[in-house]
Amino acid sequence: MSRAGSRKSIFITGAASGIGRATAKLFAEGGWFVGAYDVDVTGLSALTQEIGSENCITGKLDVVDRPGFEKSLAAFSEATGGKMDLLFNNAGIGKGGPFAEQPFEEMLQLVNVNLIGVLNGIYASLDMLKATENSLCFSTSSSSATYGIPGIAVYSATKHAVKGLTEALSIEFRDIGVRVADTLPGLIDTNILPEGTAENASTEGMFRITQPIEIAKAVWASYHDDPNRLHWFVPEEIAELDKASALDPEGTRDGIAAQGVLNQKEDDA
Ligand code: NAD
Repeated sequence: MSRAGSRKSIFITGAASGIGRATAKLFAEGGWFVGAYDVDVTGLSALTQEIGSENCITGKLDVVDRPGFEKSLAAFSEATGGKMDLLFNNAGIGKGGPFAEQPFEEMLQLVNVNLIGVLNGIYASLDMLKATENSLCFSTSSSSATYGIPGIAVYSATKHAVKGLTEALSIEFRDIGVRVADTLPGLIDTNILPEGTAENASTEGMFRITQPIEIAKAVWASYHDDPNRLHWFVPEEIAELDKASALDPEGTRDGIAAQGVLNQKEDDA
């Protein structure tokens, strides 16, 4: 009998903090066996204390490191008897600033972690997902994948890529019985936000500050309650922005420009 036994299993990247951590806790409470992976081993130890070592396997993993991914998956596979019910590609970094002022190295780092990290995860997990009935490949995109956002242009581009990948694979993987979906979160109260953002954020509207548990619930619902849904907008009103940008890209562009995102940043500097 494997460590996971008859429990379903979820493999989470970026599990030490924020959305990944909230998801690890929710699934462990729900009786799942959790694979929690991150570069932050201190955060993973704290998570293990909280959810119990019998409910999880953890490991240091940089999602950019492909051989490292293979090793982490081998350990997870041993613990679950080769099954993976849910792959949650969630690790991400958020760096920004005006495009011309952002160091190019930082742009490459964004692409590597936020996009290549997701490709690594899906590519390396595919056999396990295929071997597991009703499996789900779920990724964290962003509300900045509804329309490109000035001030976080490259971050926003990586999240568009994750959304596009999700859409394409949701069709490709039908043949192999693997469901594919993603979430497009608005403003979630986690460590990724620049200091002071959560405190100064609105409590109303689609960009109201929202707790990470709401994304965890979306991942849970995507597996258990609404298997057909492709994009999970959290809060749900983010879907309006997605529709608006598809129907009226120029109007959306001018609306965002009127909010002066870049000017605001320059004023703050
Ligand atoms: P967070 O900073 O609290 O958590 C991100 C986790 O990813 C951290 O534990 C970090 O150590 C880990 N990580 C970073 N680089 C890694 C790497 N190379 N390999 C493995 N782990 C790595 O932030 P969060 O908000 O929980 O972020 C989770 C995801 O949500 C990210 O993909 C982020 O882009 C996305 N997102 C967040 C928001 C928001 O407002 N917080 C909105 C939209 C999307």
